[in-house]
Amino acid sequence: MRKNVIAANWKMNKVLSEANQFADAVVDKVPADDNVEAIVCAPFPFLPALVEKTKGSPIKIGAQNMHFEENGAFTGEVSPVMLRDLGVTHVVIGHSERRAYFAETDETVNKKTHAAFNHVLTPIICVGETLEQREANETKDHIENQVRKALEGLTDEQTASVIIAYEPIWAIGTGKTASSEDANEVCTHIRSVLKEITSEDVAEKVIIQYGGSVKPANVDELLAQSDIDGALVGGASLEAESFFKLVEAG
Ligand code: 13P
Repeated sequence: MRKNVIAANWKMNKVLSEANQFADAVVDKVPADDNVEAIVCAPFPFLPALVEKTKGSPIKIGAQNMHFEENGAFTGEVSPVMLRDLGVTHVVIGHSERRAYFAETDETVNKKTHAAFNHVLTPIICVGETLEQREANETKDHIENQVRKALEGLTDEQTASVIIAYEPIWAIGTGKTASSEDANEVCTHIRSVLKEITSEDVAEKVIIQYGGSVKPANVDELLAQSDIDGALVGGASLEAESFFKLVEAG
C-alpha cells in the first residue's frame, strides 16, 4: 500500500514571519501517520527556520529548486549540499514554472534528479502538458517523454523512491482542476511507463501526485483514484488551516 504524500508548494510567497506563523499553526496538529506524509516546500530563505520549527514533528521540509553541482562559480544558485546540510529532505525539480520561465530542460531535470539522490534528498519531479498539447491529443506522449528523460540512468532502488507530480499546466493556479478520472488516467499511464522502465514491483512503489488547483473541496475525490497518491498544492497550501485539511484528507 502506498501512502499519500501531501506537499505544499508555496512558490514565491510569504515573508519569514508568515512562514513561522504557518509552522507554529501546523506543527502540533499534524500527527505521525504511516499512511500520510506532509511536506512544506518553501522559498530558500525560510528553510532553516522551518527545519528548526518542525524538528521532532512528522512534517518534512523541501526546497523548490536547486542546482545540480555541489559548489562553484554559479552566482545566485543553491546546491544540494547546502540543502542537505540544513536538514531539508525533499526538493521539487522541473516545476512547469521553472521550465517555462527559467529555462529548465529535461536534461537539467535529469541532472538535478541524480544530484538529489547523491545527496540523500527525495526529488519531487514535476511533469505536465500545456492546453495546446492536451487539445492535440499529445498528453500521454509528452508525459512519457518527460518521465523517461527525468529518470534516465537511475537505479531501480532510486526510481522506487522518486515522487512524480503530474501537474497539467492548464490547471495550475487557474481554478480548473483536471477531472479526477482524467488526472488518474495520466497517472496510470505514468505508472505503466515506470513498469516499462523498471519492473511492476518498482512501479507499484512510486508515489504519483496530482497538482493543479487542488483544494480541500476536491482533494478527497482525487485521492480516491487508483493511481493518485497525494497532491502538490500551490494556492491552497498557503493558509495553515487549508493545508491541514489537505493533510487530514490524506
Ligand atoms: P495551484 O495549486 O495553485 O494550482 O498550484 C499547483 C502547483 O503548481 C503546485 O506545484
